[in-house]
Amino acid sequence: MPQTKPFLSVRSLSHTYHTNSGETPALRDIHFDLFPGEFAAIVGPSGCGKTTTLKMISGFLKTDKGQILVDDQDITTLAPEKRPVSTVFQSYALFPHMSVLENVIYGLKFRGIRKKEAREMGMEYLKIVDMEEYAGASIGEISGGQQQRVALVRSLITKPKVLLLDEPLSNLDAKLRVKMREEIREIQKKYEITMVFVTHDQEEAMVLGDQIAIMDQGKLVQIGKPEEVYLHPQNDFARDFLGISNRFTDIHGNTICCRPEELEFAAEGSVKGIVRQEEFLGFYRQYYVETMNHEHIIVRTDRNIKVEAGKEVQLRVK
Ligand code: ADP
Ligand code: MG
Repeated sequence: MPQTKPFLSVRSLSHTYHTNSGETPALRDIHFDLFPGEFAAIVGPSGCGKTTTLKMISGFLKTDKGQILVDDQDITTLAPEKRPVSTVFQSYALFPHMSVLENVIYGLKFRGIRKKEAREMGMEYLKIVDMEEYAGASIGEISGGQQQRVALVRSLITKPKVLLLDEPLSNLDAKLRVKMREEIREIQKKYEITMVFVTHDQEEAMVLGDQIAIMDQGKLVQIGKPEEVYLHPQNDFARDFLGISNRFTDIHGNTICCRPEELEFAAEGSVKGIVRQEEFLGFYRQYYVETMNHEHIIVRTDRNIKVEAGKEVQLRVK
C-alpha cells in the first residue's frame, strides 16, 4: 500500500497551563505525521506532556499554538465531539448508571445501528476482553482493570479513524496486558485505525509501535521505527530511556555509550573491571561489572558464557 499522504498531522503544537501557582509550559513545538493505519507509541517520563498531547489532539484542551489535521481537514478548533477522534483516557470515565454492555454500545446509538444488532456487537467485543459474563453488571461492581477493558472496547466498537489511548493497559496484570496488546494490534490492523498509544512500558512500545515517539520535558526528542530509535538514538536521553544503556570511560579515556548486548568479555578489552553479580535470565545472562574507575556496566551474554562473581575481566565492544 503506497503511503504518500499523512492521515494525522500534528504541527508545532504548544501548550502552557495557567494556574494560580504560575505557568507550566507543558508542550513545545510537538510535530509529527502518521500515515493511515499507523501506530505510534509515545513514551517518556511522568510529566513530560504525553497526556497533554492526547488532550489537544482530542480537543479537550485548546491549542495555544500549532495545528492538527486529520485526513487533510484542519480540526484544530473543532469541539471534541466533532472530531473524527476517539480517546480512552487514564480515568476511564464510564457511565456509572449504565451496565457494562450499555457502556460498550453507547457510541453506536448515534450511528443508526439497531439495538439488537448493537447488543450482539457489544457481546462480541466483550468476549475479546473476557468480559462477556459481566455484560449485565454495573460499573461499580467491576474492578479497575475490568473497567479499563470496558473503556477500551467501548472506543474500539465505533471503529474510529483515529484512536488515542492513554496508558490503557496500566491496570492489568502481566498476562492480560500481553493478550490485550495483541488484541489491540489485531483490531487496529483489521480496521486500519491510526492510533496514538501512550505507555510507560518500553516493551509494549517496541512491540506495538510502527513509530516510537520519545518525549522529554514537553518536547518530542525523537520519532522513528523501533529499530531506528533503539539503534540510532538521537541523544543521550533517547538512548537511556529506551532500553538499558551503559556509559563508561575506556582505558584510553574515551567515553563509551553502548547497550549491554553490544559488549563481550575479551582477553584484551577496552575496559577492565570486576564482576560484581551474575544473573541467569533464561535466554541470556546478565553481568554487573564494576570498572577500575568505579563505573558500573551491565553486560548481556549468551547464557553459555559463565563468569564467576569476583573475577577480574576485560570488556570489549563487539
Ligand atoms: P504525562 O502524561 O507525560 O505524565 P502531562 O501531560 O499530564 O504529562 O503533564 C505535563 C505537564 O503539565 C506536567 O508538568 C504537569 O504537571 C502539567 N499539567 C498537567 N495537567 C495540568 C493542569 N490541569 N494544570 C496545570 N498543570 C498541568
Ligand atoms: Mg499522563
